Amino acid sequence: MRRKILTCLALSAAFLCACGKVPSGNSVQQGEIEHSVSDSSNNAQVENRGADKNNWWNVLPRKDWAHYQRIPQQQDWFEVYKVLDGVYAIYEPGQFEEVISFLILGNERALLFDTGLGIGDIRAVVATLTDLDVVVLNSHTHYDHIGGNHQFSQILGRDTTFTRLHEAGSSHDDVAEFVGPGWVWKEFPPDFDPSTYRSKPFQIDERISDRNKIDLGGRILEVLETPGHTPDSICLIDRDNHLLFSGDTFYLAPLYTHLEGSDFEQYAHSAARLAALVVDIEYVLTAHNVPIVTSSYLLELREAFDTIKSGRGEYALADGHREYDFGDFSIIVANESSE
Ligand SMILES: [Zn+2]
Repeated sequence: MRRKILTCLALSAAFLCACGKVPSGNSVQQGEIEHSVSDSSNNAQVENRGADKNNWWNVLPRKDWAHYQRIPQQQDWFEVYKVLDGVYAIYEPGQFEEVISFLILGNERALLFDTGLGIGDIRAVVATLTDLDVVVLNSHTHYDHIGGNHQFSQILGRDTTFTRLHEAGSSHDDVAEFVGPGWVWKEFPPDFDPSTYRSKPFQIDERISDRNKIDLGGRILEVLETPGHTPDSICLIDRDNHLLFSGDTFYLAPLYTHLEGSDFEQYAHSAARLAALVVDIEYVLTAHNVPIVTSSYLLELREAFDTIKSGRGEYALADGHREYDFGDFSIIVANESSE
């Protein structure tokens, strides 16, 4: 986990998401947790690969997924689950990020919240799940959330400099490491070539901003701008169904406030905003590792930021950054911005 952060920063922080690997509290056995967080060898998360070694994928499969109905797919790269009525999680456990994209169905159209890594054919997956027109919206534009954008013709997005940078796509060098040794344990799809992997350019048709409502027919999603992880981070709230789609603003793993484009103070403000909405939210659908957590974590997130801001929090140094451990999640803070 820690070495991974250093590697990412050295490579191209602007294209990172990098969710880290503290396992969820409810989804992993205690022994696995100890194994995961105590491994402090160099490049601990992505080296030591191979049989009987301390690999990040040893925590798989995460138990939470067993609670949901799995929808069989022809492509081995994806695991697809119906996680709630009208909500499918499209999970990519074969790569370190374990990213999760969500297909949200209305009566008239569907919204795909993130498009994954761009390794498999996510459009083909979506076609197995719905005949409705599909509009894409990204929780933010890190590489592991925009990989399949280029396959879709209707894309909503923020109007930020950060977003426009990522619309243009990346070079292979920007993202090559993320499909390299130790980052992937599954076989790549037969038509995928890691030597040419990049984030392909895409075009946003319609710019959205805070409080915009997206009507899918019988389901309304409201945009909440939640900058901090990136300048263009958003969450979606489905008030009628008491759901929050949190993107990378919250998940059960290290939360990154220290990357290029991240902003600790903005992140803290966004956390407070989400906590204030907790009475309207029952479940939070997160973009990495496990699909659904209870909304009480939003209160814990606000409290965690308050603790760090107060100077009371204990931290460990991780590649020069501060990691504050709050149990089922942690927060990584750049040393210079946490005072
Ligand atoms: Zn991210």
